[in-house]
Amino acid sequence: MLWATAHQIAAMLKVRVVILLPEGDTIAVRAGYPPDDTLVDADIAAARWAWEHNRPAGRGADTLPGAKRLYLPLRTGRMPIGVVGLDNDKQGPLLTPEQQRLLDALNDQAAVAIERTQLVADVDKAQLVAEADKLRSALLTSISHDLKTPLAGIMGAAGTLRDYPQAMTDGDRADLLGTIVDESERLNRFIANLLDMTRIESGAMQPTMSPHYVGDIVGSALRRADKILAKHTTRIEIPADLPMVKLDPVLFEQVLFNFLDNAAKYAPEGSLVLIRGLHRGGSILLEIIDEGPGIPAEDLERVFDSFHRVRKTDHVRAGTGLGLAICRGFVEALGGTIKAGNRTDRSGAVFTIQMPLNPQQVPERLQ
Ligand code: ADP
Repeated sequence: MLWATAHQIAAMLKVRVVILLPEGDTIAVRAGYPPDDTLVDADIAAARWAWEHNRPAGRGADTLPGAKRLYLPLRTGRMPIGVVGLDNDKQGPLLTPEQQRLLDALNDQAAVAIERTQLVADVDKAQLVAEADKLRSALLTSISHDLKTPLAGIMGAAGTLRDYPQAMTDGDRADLLGTIVDESERLNRFIANLLDMTRIESGAMQPTMSPHYVGDIVGSALRRADKILAKHTTRIEIPADLPMVKLDPVLFEQVLFNFLDNAAKYAPEGSLVLIRGLHRGGSILLEIIDEGPGIPAEDLERVFDSFHRVRKTDHVRAGTGLGLAICRGFVEALGGTIKAGNRTDRSGAVFTIQMPLNPQQVPERLQ
């Protein structure tokens, strides 16, 4: 936009143009036509003077006439915007009175246009700050709940073991130790999720890509989820001739684990969790299908947002609201896409991962 403004002024007045905008407590060249961003000291002084005093300075003006260019303040009715610097190769006055009037009109237009883009940038910044604040408070709420619940379990069980060793049967002791192990694992998963999310958000993730059969990774994710899926039935439907796909096995397994963890949490005990692989066009599709309540249409996209949980009651279950955000971050880092849907034959969620067989370009890092 700035270059276009500089070009317009240059073309209409047959002059060379630089536009300077505030930067910190001074002003700096932001555009020029023809492109030229080097100002000699005398010009810098004249440009600053014009900015600070809101009056012309430099060539042909009363102040600092030794500068190469004439510097004129750019302002809207509301506020100073910047400075425009003009010069040409002619001797004598830079502009005829008629050109001066044209310049005034162009400057007004330019100032309003620049102000508008700055206002938009300010609003964007304010929105980002507001979103970061929202995220921070959601994070705190989630952390205090998700850290406190397992910690309370661990402290209670460990305290009982210490204080009443005699009064307990072997069975009681085993139960309490089991609670300590389970709750510690829960804490561990939560902290791993938080770390994963930080890595995604800071762009510090570097996938290591190599060809793999997705069936192998499904197998290892299922083994890892063995305990949490103990009360569900699982089935794998992956054709033997499904081609290999390039991916990072560690990240991909984590994605599958998060989906399986959700299926275990949200679909009732005894129900079936199906993992289906398909070869479609130039891609491999992997679907994780459960028999739970499914996901309301209006939440299908939002479930991938950090800390978004569909039902109020979801908050009483162990979870972070980070699992699906991590899935999306990881799959996109691997060059794939991910989407949520519902079954049409009965209630239940369907999560689909699509991985291209010949990725044109896998992003090196997450943006
Ligand atoms: P959480 O830690 O809450 O499970 P996720 O990011 O993994 O966080 O999921 C976000 C929300 O999406 C969940 O709180 C739940 O409301 C919904 N959800 C995820 N998976 C399923 C599923 N298989 N069936 C129904 N709802 C689901």
